[in-house]
Amino acid sequence: MSVDRSVVSPGATIGIIGGGQLGRMTAMAAARLGYRCHVYCPEADCPASQVAAATVAAYEDHRALARFANRVDVVTFEFENIPAESVRVLSRHVTVRPGWHVLETAQDRLIEKPFFNSIDVATAAWRPVLSRSDLESAVAELGRPSVLKTARFGYDGKGQVKIEDATSLDDAWSEMKDAPAILESFVDFEREVSVIVGRGVDGAASCFDVVENRHRHHILDQTIAPAPITPALARRAEEIALRTAETLGLVGLLAVELFVTRDGRLLANEMAPRPHNSGHWTIDACMTDQFEQLVRAVCGLPLGSTRRHSDAVMTNLIGDDANQWLNILRQADARLHLYGKTEARPGRKMGHVTRLIPRKPEVIGEN
Ligand code: AMP
Repeated sequence: MSVDRSVVSPGATIGIIGGGQLGRMTAMAAARLGYRCHVYCPEADCPASQVAAATVAAYEDHRALARFANRVDVVTFEFENIPAESVRVLSRHVTVRPGWHVLETAQDRLIEKPFFNSIDVATAAWRPVLSRSDLESAVAELGRPSVLKTARFGYDGKGQVKIEDATSLDDAWSEMKDAPAILESFVDFEREVSVIVGRGVDGAASCFDVVENRHRHHILDQTIAPAPITPALARRAEEIALRTAETLGLVGLLAVELFVTRDGRLLANEMAPRPHNSGHWTIDACMTDQFEQLVRAVCGLPLGSTRRHSDAVMTNLIGDDANQWLNILRQADARLHLYGKTEARPGRKMGHVTRLIPRKPEVIGEN
């Protein structure tokens, strides 16, 4: 009998690049299905290494990467900003899902934006900005307000400057520290939504319900599931995520963040080829959560049902918010998740709480 090499069976070891809370929750979901996990992260005692084996080494350490790759049966990511050469080293020894092409597209806004546009997914108007003089002409074309962002390595609003009437372009450009950047028109959005799609080795794909994301100080504060939008708009958002995943040939998970404009259009902002903070609610409110779906996809298993059995509001616990853990534990509708981080620095994601609103059985049937 031929062995289907695309399938990684329970008992095997999943390698996870990155050691944060996304890796921790992936390892917990994997353990439930009988897998072991081995994380690769640059720091000791990270959230994921508390629940899985760990290799602590730099992402550029090719010998450590090769040793790690030989110890695991498949590799996935909880963090996408790793060098191309490191992914190449991993791929020589083990199956890597999603593949380099997907990570590369998501790592760099100057690849991501034209990719979206090439598959007829609208974005804010944008221009590449590689120099101070590019910035001058881009601002002349797109106008103010607009947003200047570093093309790579930005997260939670880092590496971003809003260009308003009074903003000096010299100051804005110096914030980019000479790195390639992108200028985007400022979108006066009605709300921000996201969709997470899982896609398996066989090309089967399914989305979790579209959610609304509310930010505070550029960091995700709350996710409302489902997003209060029309079913038609939700279907269009899902269609965008499915088309993106399909065109990329994704195996794994992909989150697509979108703006809903005041005139009802959807503009893609960015994608992340991994579990996403806006999918944490699925742990408590769906048949299969995003982390289990990732495990299923990268191990070549059938995808699980993404059916939402409860409505949910997920609130991030940032910095000192996590000190409320005892109060939260006393609330009957609240599910508390803490990430095992010892130091509660301002802006640091320490955990989250999901509050559930159960749906009536007849409503679930209509899903
Ligand atoms: P990003 O790092 O691209 O996810 O941006 C972080 C947050 O900044 C987004 O979630 C939005 O709230 C805001 N933002 C980013 N780009 C734009 C834009 N072009 N127009 C308006 N707000 C934006």
